[in-house]
Amino acid sequence: MRNLILILGDQLDSQSAAFDDFDTTMDVVWMAEVSEESTKVWSSKVRIVLFLSAMRHFCEGLRKRKWNVAYRELTDHAETFSSALAESITELRPTKIIFVEPGEWHVKQSILAVLESSGIAWEMREDRHFLCSREEFTKHAQGRKQFRMEYFYREMRRKYDVLMVEDAPAGGAWNFDSENRKSFGKSGPPLHRAPLRFPPDEITRAVIDLVSIRFADHPGDLHAFDWPVTAEQAEQALSDFITYRLSEFGDWQDALWTAEPWLFHSRLSAAMNLKLLNPRVVIAAAESAYKAGHAPLAAVEGFIRQILGWREYVRGIYWHHMPNYITLNELGADQPLPQFYWSGDTDMACLHDALEQTLRYGYAHHIQRLMVTGLYALLLGVRPNEVHQWYLAVYVDAVEWVELPNTIGMSQHADGGIMASKPYAASGKYIQRMSNYCTGCRYDPALATGPKACPFTTLYWDFLLQHEDRLRKNPRTAMQVRSINRLSGDQRQAIQEQAEQIRTNNLPKS
Ligand SMILES: Cc1cc2nc3c(=O)[nH]c(=O)nc-3n(C[C@H](O)[C@H](O)[C@H](O)COP(=O)(O)OP(=O)(O)OC[C@H]3O[C@@H](n4cnc5c(N)ncnc54)[C@H](O)[C@@H]3O)c2cc1C
Ligand code: SF4
Repeated sequence: MRNLILILGDQLDSQSAAFDDFDTTMDVVWMAEVSEESTKVWSSKVRIVLFLSAMRHFCEGLRKRKWNVAYRELTDHAETFSSALAESITELRPTKIIFVEPGEWHVKQSILAVLESSGIAWEMREDRHFLCSREEFTKHAQGRKQFRMEYFYREMRRKYDVLMVEDAPAGGAWNFDSENRKSFGKSGPPLHRAPLRFPPDEITRAVIDLVSIRFADHPGDLHAFDWPVTAEQAEQALSDFITYRLSEFGDWQDALWTAEPWLFHSRLSAAMNLKLLNPRVVIAAAESAYKAGHAPLAAVEGFIRQILGWREYVRGIYWHHMPNYITLNELGADQPLPQFYWSGDTDMACLHDALEQTLRYGYAHHIQRLMVTGLYALLLGVRPNEVHQWYLAVYVDAVEWVELPNTIGMSQHADGGIMASKPYAASGKYIQRMSNYCTGCRYDPALATGPKACPFTTLYWDFLLQHEDRLRKNPRTAMQVRSINRLSGDQRQAIQEQAEQIRTNNLPKS
């Protein structure tokens, strides 16, 4: 054997740089299902099934092309990635190991450690999936005290000539947020077609059986599993989104509604993060829909911004700040994550809905993650690392380079403002405005104290009181924190006592 090509579970890209000089007569692809990947955080069953099924389908595709694949299936005993790799190197004795840079800092370190100790020749190649290389992001970051997505995004639009008319943004503006982000109002979401489903085939069914037994005590359930697990299915999911939901994506990007998990979102994050789907293809499909008059500019720009802007930007932030980033806790949060995050067993209607669908589908849309589950953890003061472990465990699209900056930075403000210029703190009234959750809830979002007080609202005021000095110094929150001036001493005390009670009880279901 000449080269052993390592392909990780989130590198299922047939155009990967790892395959550039692949020779079917001399080279072998190596893939491994290791239990460590499902247990280092308490991964939900849906997430485990998606990764294993997609890996098995990818392996099948390579073998159909008559490529040699050394594929290690999950064993009964606990195995780490390092031990599996070390064992295969001894067994297969390749001349050289080739791999694309892993997306996770710790995985990269553990591969390098195995390779160093085995003394074998190796070559690490760039991950071409992304539109911004790590070197380019480093250049962008040089000399900047503060990072802001907006400037990065404009550079990317210019570089890739996306939604540009000569040197100006299409429609004369970079951003159409003022036209987007509405709430549904009393009548609820307009009629919309359910997203295309991908019912489990034989390979996925075998994985479902395996995971149901091997990881029986892990959170979530598998009855609704319908995620795309191949590149072909991912392209079908993209086409379904572009045809039926893109044109209304912008309008309803931030809206929430009970028992409506998908609304007008694309459901493409998992396929992209596993590298089944290239972001260039997604961006081009959206831009073509605009140019053909099938979708308005505001919706298309709003969607492209998420991929060409946010997705690339958070990856840059991750690599720029790791390994320290994972340890940050700027607000000094010290509470445990409530147990009900793993069961959905709470009488707060918004949290119940978001958690229940998270455990069932491995999915919640951005505003559910940021302004329901994330907001509650922020206001309660949960230790950021516990919040991070939960997000990494429960979502099908969870891989650390994208999950961590969103959690530690955007959602918990534990990085002190590297990722977002202010904490996303809001009371229950925000949730009331953007959803119908509060109409079916035993709490009242207008109340901060008393038996019917909404816990979000109590904790929001308590958050402002706790972090008053910091929030006053930040020009983006100075106005917001001024509202505590109108609270009397008694009101402050009552809020703080009720917040303390919430923290002590962690609100078990009544
Ligand atoms: C606390 C928290 C944790 C998150 N963890 C993850 C994660 O583990 N993996 C992940 O892919 N996204 C994560 N996100 C970002 C975002 O919520 C998801 O990408 C999105 O909900 C996926 O659903 P969708 O494909 O239907 O997205 P859509 O709403 O249709 O958006 C289109 C695409 O834009 C990209 N995107 C949108 N927002 C972001 C963002 N903030 N950062 C990076 N990419 C973005 C995704 O690739 C997504 O598929 C997280 C957000 C928060 C607040
Ligand atoms: S009242 Fe509070 S807890 Fe209940 S749904 Fe509204 S925001 Fe959530």
